[in-house]
Amino acid sequence: MIETGEFDFENRIVAPQVIKDDDGDLDYSLRPKTLSEYIGQDKVKENMRIYIEAAKKRGEALDHVLLYGPPGLGKTTLSNIIAHEMGVNIRVTSGPAIEKTGDLAALLTSLQAGDVLFIDEIHRLSRAIEEILYPALEDFAIDFVIGNGPAARSIRIDLQRFTLIGATTRSGQLSAPLRDRFGIIQRLELYSPEDLTEIITRSAAILGVAIDREAAVEMASRSRGTPRIANRFLKRVRDYADVMSDGRITKDIAKIALDRMEVDPLGLDSLDKRMLSMIINGYGGGPVGLETLASAIGEEAVTLEDVCEPFLMQLGFLARTPRGRCATDLAYRHLGIKKPSDGNGAQTTLFDK
Ligand code: ADP
Repeated sequence: MIETGEFDFENRIVAPQVIKDDDGDLDYSLRPKTLSEYIGQDKVKENMRIYIEAAKKRGEALDHVLLYGPPGLGKTTLSNIIAHEMGVNIRVTSGPAIEKTGDLAALLTSLQAGDVLFIDEIHRLSRAIEEILYPALEDFAIDFVIGNGPAARSIRIDLQRFTLIGATTRSGQLSAPLRDRFGIIQRLELYSPEDLTEIITRSAAILGVAIDREAAVEMASRSRGTPRIANRFLKRVRDYADVMSDGRITKDIAKIALDRMEVDPLGLDSLDKRMLSMIINGYGGGPVGLETLASAIGEEAVTLEDVCEPFLMQLGFLARTPRGRCATDLAYRHLGIKKPSDGNGAQTTLFDK
């Protein structure tokens, strides 16, 4: 039987988004402040280094930047670094936080020359707000209509030349006109276990926690390619180390702690497993449509798409086909389910010897 029902996302230890008990101050202290402290994402870093250098040489504001990729990969961190490297101020907001056109106008007019405006979840801006943004991005001006009917007048307010950095987990949902206004578009990838090992080691040093290299490797391999999860593991495993021994994080302690948090050796948790089991046991290994799958396990389709899929695809456990999602041979093997050779569906595995 596959268990369905409400999943406690706000406390999901492998959630790539910020969860309830993430400590904001601690998180801030772990953020790299310069490009050279920013681990991994070499292509993005190299590109940004050149664009920043060139803009500084010309004494101009950096072109508008769009950063996209799954949550927790360092888009906000990188935006702060860009502002720092450019030597300018950054104003931080998000798509859903800008409700009225006046909110955006106030933000834009407060920017000084070269400043960065960071808009997280930029795909969630409303149409009306986007309309204000277009001339701001292109001509560095905003147009206001005052009054109604024949008496209506349009006035234009000039802005300083600024840089918009937009971050999104779903670049496909960005309207084409908005997307076209970004001169620099960079995609962040899931991190390799080596990069995550380095991130954990760096964070441990900042927190003053002693950690064995094999322990960092163990935690990195379960962090789903995501620095936010790696740092969260470090904080939780540190608690186990403090209680179970002298505070040093060893591989054994890391294993015990992560097993107790129900994160398996590859970083899968119960939601990932429910998703794969449903494809295998409920739909003969797939293909099955995302919406069908989501309602079968009682979760939101966007959660499966944004959170489970990128990671399961990176592991090679899930394939996306035009007809729906399929579980791969690797997924069968990892879950210890025998793949039916006759192709009549995984249900027959129940009767395998
Ligand atoms: P996003 O905006 O993509 O959701 P954040 O920028 O908030 O992600 O990053 C989440 C956390 O991960 C940050 O607090 C930071 O400490 C850590 N982090 C992200 N990218 C890196 C990196 N390249 N090197 C070191 N730490 C990182």
